[in-house]
Amino acid sequence: MSQYANDLIAEVKAKNPAEPEFHQAVQEVAESLSLVLERHPEYRTARILERIIEPERVIMFRVPWVDDQGDVQINRGYRIEMNSAIGPYKGGLRFHPSVTLGILKFLAFEQVFKNSLTTLPMGGGKGGSDFDPKGKSDLKIMRFCQAFMSELARHIGPDTDVPAGDIGVGGREIGYLFGQYKKLRNEFTGVLTGKGLNWGGSLIRPEATGYGAVYFAAEMLSTRGKTLEGKVCLVSGSGNVAQYTIEKILQLGGKAVTVSDSDGYIYDEAGITTEKLAHIMELKNVRRDRIKEYATKYKTAVYTPVNPKLDYNPLWSHKADCAFPSATQNEINGKDAQNLVRNGAYLVAEGANMPTTLDGVRVFLDAKILYGPGKAANAGGVAVSGLEMAQNSMRLPWTRDEVDNRLRMIMKSIHSTCVQMADRFGTPGNYVNGANIGGFLKVADAMMDQGVV
Ligand code: NAP
Repeated sequence: MSQYANDLIAEVKAKNPAEPEFHQAVQEVAESLSLVLERHPEYRTARILERIIEPERVIMFRVPWVDDQGDVQINRGYRIEMNSAIGPYKGGLRFHPSVTLGILKFLAFEQVFKNSLTTLPMGGGKGGSDFDPKGKSDLKIMRFCQAFMSELARHIGPDTDVPAGDIGVGGREIGYLFGQYKKLRNEFTGVLTGKGLNWGGSLIRPEATGYGAVYFAAEMLSTRGKTLEGKVCLVSGSGNVAQYTIEKILQLGGKAVTVSDSDGYIYDEAGITTEKLAHIMELKNVRRDRIKEYATKYKTAVYTPVNPKLDYNPLWSHKADCAFPSATQNEINGKDAQNLVRNGAYLVAEGANMPTTLDGVRVFLDAKILYGPGKAANAGGVAVSGLEMAQNSMRLPWTRDEVDNRLRMIMKSIHSTCVQMADRFGTPGNYVNGANIGGFLKVADAMMDQGVV
């Protein structure tokens, strides 16, 4: 790593203690950008990267609400408005007990580069709360969402900041959040994406992240003359991204053999069929049950509970061609990455954000497998959110085919940007450098044009 990158990371750590995920995300980007900053000292003089690292605004707020027993509950809410050089802040809301300022800053930072890669005019942001929706009644969820939006509403708007969903925030939560925004502001606008279809949502938005990750994987495979036909795929998670990743793998002739949640994972050697996927969707989206239940219904499947004593995740030790981590950050460590490579995996497309630790990334890069980092491979979700914003502005809905074609074109374009940038900066085949550099240049040039603001 260059001296410049080393100094930068030391400063980030000193200034933002106790934010390890944010340090990790900055380190990965700074390593890639050393290549650019050597060739373009003007970005260093203007301190572009130092400015990108500092959020334009961090909003942290109290979320008091009353549960259905009449007890007062207090959560913490956040919105990180990271960068608006190329458009309004855009990025999801995460409701999960593990949410901290550092996690949301890493996500907002990644979002800046990801949104830039989509070719659409969107800045970067992220938000959420340490609220845990798991096992809570619809009434509790509604009350929390209304309390959260009561504060957030004053900071967002269709031309300012447009949140969407993420872990723990799906269609139900977006509905409650939108309803409260509309009541407070007395306006019906495209202030959130991931909306219901009959009130401003876009076709293909629920599918977009998973479909996009598989389109990206197909593009990577095509560089080696391969397709997904007959490929065995490991998928983690069983939420929105995992479900539509499996659906698209099936449509392209591949075979997904795993799914997971935070309690454990399923290995189904026979493959997850369309019928089994429908069961997962019913289990997770309607009954809001645990993935363990799958193995009770399908006897070909084996359930393995999480073992906190292990220093690796056995899900990644199964023999497979491709891996689609789609649960959460840092779910593949160095050992998991070695297990994947040793067992024959030659493609990793990240549906989740930063699911691989820095050690794991090094293993993939050294092995020269097709490794698509999250900010490129999972950009399909925010891309279709951008298309939802466009439809809201026009007040015209597009057909399923129209949105899906645009999604496919965007994923193709992100892939070719990654390939071209990796080539141009002397690291062919390195999608990490390609994505970081491609995402950076557009934002950096916009910031240069707009002066020191
Ligand atoms: P989701 O529908 O809430 O599903 C999340 C899944 O991951 C669930 O199966 C959950 O299991 C599991 N999970 C969450 N935290 C975990 C943890 N700490 N350990 C183990 N498993 C965990 O969320 P999602 O929208 O699919 O998001 C998944 C990932 O994709 C996240 O990294 C998110 O940032 C990223 N992403 C999402 C979108 C999008 O459009 N939704 C776009 C880009 C990237 P439990 O049910 O047990 O919690």
